[in-house]
Amino acid sequence: MLGTSGSYGAPAGGACSGYLVRSGGTAIWMDCGNGTLANLQRHCGVEDLDAVVITHVHPDHCVDLYGLHVLSLYGLEHRGLPVYAPGGTERLLGSLVGGDWGGAFAWHDVGDGDRAEVGATALRFSRTHHPPPTMAVEITADGKRLVYTADTGPDWSPEAFGPGADLLLAEATYQDSSDGYPFHLTARQAGTLARESRARRLMLTHLWPRLDPAISVEEGEEGFGGRLTLAAPHLVATI
Ligand SMILES: [Zn+2]
Repeated sequence: MLGTSGSYGAPAGGACSGYLVRSGGTAIWMDCGNGTLANLQRHCGVEDLDAVVITHVHPDHCVDLYGLHVLSLYGLEHRGLPVYAPGGTERLLGSLVGGDWGGAFAWHDVGDGDRAEVGATALRFSRTHHPPPTMAVEITADGKRLVYTADTGPDWSPEAFGPGADLLLAEATYQDSSDGYPFHLTARQAGTLARESRARRLMLTHLWPRLDPAISVEEGEEGFGGRLTLAAPHLVATI
């Protein structure tokens, strides 16, 4: 876990969404939220990344790609790192680099139902219920499945990838008492989606920083019908 704050950075080192997924010799940086590049470097050489996945172009999921861009071109002299992102991301984010990424990345547009292979891992993408085109991600390796909801409202389900994820990493921006928007989940909704999709384990992330996480755990566990784990920067989950 490189960053787990929902929407904006929390006090005391709370980076936004970002996850380093490793299997064997394969390393994927999934979401590049603000603060996650710094945290990534404590766990992985940037030159050892095999791919980057960006689920959508909200800043809390993508802005540290700019740091990687500079480091790749002027620090590592490394080009062509694969970036999987919804169509149009290269152009949208490119406005801050003068429309020229200098070849740092090999862009791959992904849409609902698309698949990709990175090293020994297989990726699938599913369009969630969130305003910009947003892709949930399933990563399969060694017969184990990680499903990451990215950002979504309750009108999308992890069932899109089939039931029984070994670990469901679910956004849980809100709580029961929140006056929230329908394109994010409450902890209880995340728990309910995990139970209905028969996830084996549930980890909550992307909590709104002003909320008490203990309440999110309580409401999430009621929805899930079992124990869950709260994501936190530098926490390592073994699947
Ligand atoms: Zn977000």
